[in-house]
Amino acid sequence: MITLALSKGRIYDETLPLLAAAGIEVLEDPEKSRKLILPTNQPGVRVVLVRATDVPTYVEYGGADLGVTGKDTLIEHGGQGLYQPLDLNIARCRVSVAVRADFDYATAVRQGSRLRVATKYTAIARDFFAGKGVHVDLIKLYGSMELAPLTGLADAIVDLVSTGNTLKANQLVEVERIMDISSRLVVNQAALKLKQRAIQPILDAFTNAVSSPASPS
Ligand code: AMP
Repeated sequence: MITLALSKGRIYDETLPLLAAAGIEVLEDPEKSRKLILPTNQPGVRVVLVRATDVPTYVEYGGADLGVTGKDTLIEHGGQGLYQPLDLNIARCRVSVAVRADFDYATAVRQGSRLRVATKYTAIARDFFAGKGVHVDLIKLYGSMELAPLTGLADAIVDLVSTGNTLKANQLVEVERIMDISSRLVVNQAALKLKQRAIQPILDAFTNAVSSPASPS
């Protein structure tokens, strides 16, 4: 049995066409079912639904053989024990620094002020500000980061940005682009050896689908 770990939402939706390219069709819609293990049209392949931040952990410890996870999540996890063969080029976005429109970020950085930064992405934020030589107090949050500068909890946030609409709706402005993000396929290293005959065709189909994406209909 091959187990693939996915998180609901954008990653799940954008992985479905790649699965289809590998001849795999998920038989239940996670938005309509409460099941966490979803069967596929292939008796030897199943999908498990986990939180996005848990995908690397499931694959690292063999709870799943394969998974799809964002580069942001992989960096925060550390990526230990995971083989990362493929950038799937899906769920694309960026990690950025944002502040209130009335906060003078450039001057604060130039003057060497200590910044309070709220984020879910503490490893990425720590590395980025250390590289710039900016002293920061990091405040770990698990969601609604946009609220932090508006309530005075923080001077800045480090968060994922896609269209920029969420920042705009909360009167925040993007002041630094830290890195581009896309989702990666990750594989358990032991499974890659022990289940290679079942896993390799999936890797090959994903690789082909990524390098020659279907033309938009
Ligand atoms: P947007 O308004 O399109 O810039 O999207 C920003 C919001 O969506 C923020 O709350 C982000 O945390 C979240 N977001 C954007 N892109 C992604 C992604 N690829 N994966 C998960 N969350 C995302």
